[in-house]
Amino acid sequence: MEIRTVPIASVRLGKEEILAVTKVLKSGRLRAGVLTQEFENRFARAAGARFAIAVNSGTAALHLAYLALVKAGDEVIVPDFTFVATASMVVAAGAKPVFADVDPDTFTIDPNAILSRITARTRAIAPVHLYGQPAAITPIRAIARKHRLRIIWDAAQAHGARFEGRDVGSFRDAVCYSFYPTKNMTTGEGGMITTQDAQLDRELRLLRSQGDKSRYEHVRIGFNYRLTDVAAAIGLAQLDRLPQAIRRRRENARYLAGRLAGVRGIILPRPPRGFFHSYNLFTLRLDLEALGMTRSHFQRRMLEHGIETSVHYPMPLHRQPVFKGHGKDADFPVSCRLAETVVSIPAHPELTSEDLERVVKAVRKVAMPARPESSLTS
Ligand SMILES: *Cc1c(COP(=O)(O)O)cnc(C)c1O
Repeated sequence: MEIRTVPIASVRLGKEEILAVTKVLKSGRLRAGVLTQEFENRFARAAGARFAIAVNSGTAALHLAYLALVKAGDEVIVPDFTFVATASMVVAAGAKPVFADVDPDTFTIDPNAILSRITARTRAIAPVHLYGQPAAITPIRAIARKHRLRIIWDAAQAHGARFEGRDVGSFRDAVCYSFYPTKNMTTGEGGMITTQDAQLDRELRLLRSQGDKSRYEHVRIGFNYRLTDVAAAIGLAQLDRLPQAIRRRRENARYLAGRLAGVRGIILPRPPRGFFHSYNLFTLRLDLEALGMTRSHFQRRMLEHGIETSVHYPMPLHRQPVFKGHGKDADFPVSCRLAETVVSIPAHPELTSEDLERVVKAVRKVAMPARPESSLTS
């Protein structure tokens, strides 16, 4: 019998999304309009933010936030361990990314590493709530206040994550989201920026759409980063599903953590107190020595048991060919080690209880293989 492979991510599109999109198609009004506005309003409310600006990708969200908050030649401190866009959009905005090492337990930027990277040209910090784990928000805000730095939060993986009861979308200065299909909610492609600042909101809207203050009067060099009402219709339905989806992700994470505790060679994610992790990814660290195998061997064996795994990310940013000259391995010991040892296993809301049990069994079997027949005679 062919057994289904348990996927690492899965999108749920129900009749709500299909009906909503059909309605937009029938209306013939596809471009950004009333639904995009409604999506912005409802997203802002859900995130506890005053303003939300919809764009057509998470990358576009970061690009606009950097353009609005930093100038050419400024330095922006970025974690060395994240998706490329957190740093590449700093360059696209004319500024310079300066990489900082991360914390081994939370995978997010290390506040002490931020302090060691501050120069006279530092203008902003771009912490990432990686995998749905909020970054060290309190110390980062204290550093920003003291050194007069702006903060651009990358929450592409952290819709619904909270810190001390407060949604990560409600912090200053700007928070960037993605709606790519592997994230906690999707619009196919899409993104959002939340902010508390009315002037920043206006600036971002200008940049999103050709810099036009009024029709065909262009006061800034802008872009076309607008969302469509088709995507917004999907987004509104997905936003309704978000609380339930996050609840499921967290239940699945709790189940996996409970059943995998104590497995030799496996280090489980452990969010510190006060951090409400949204588990876009459930990421293990492998103790390769204790495990006695390479990570790719672990992944291959998991797949043989029908479980898909993934690695976010196999290469620290300072080693990327495009960021040559931005630092050496010795500057980023944690990031280098994580890039070699992290592996994510399925925890998404579409998993059945059988799927979850299969994930647990597979990890246990791969990590603790039955000993070969022990020979008492030799
Ligand atoms: C997905 C992601 C992005 C980019 O979002 P897109 O919608 O794919 O452009 C940026 N940063 C992080 C951390 C991400 O995970």
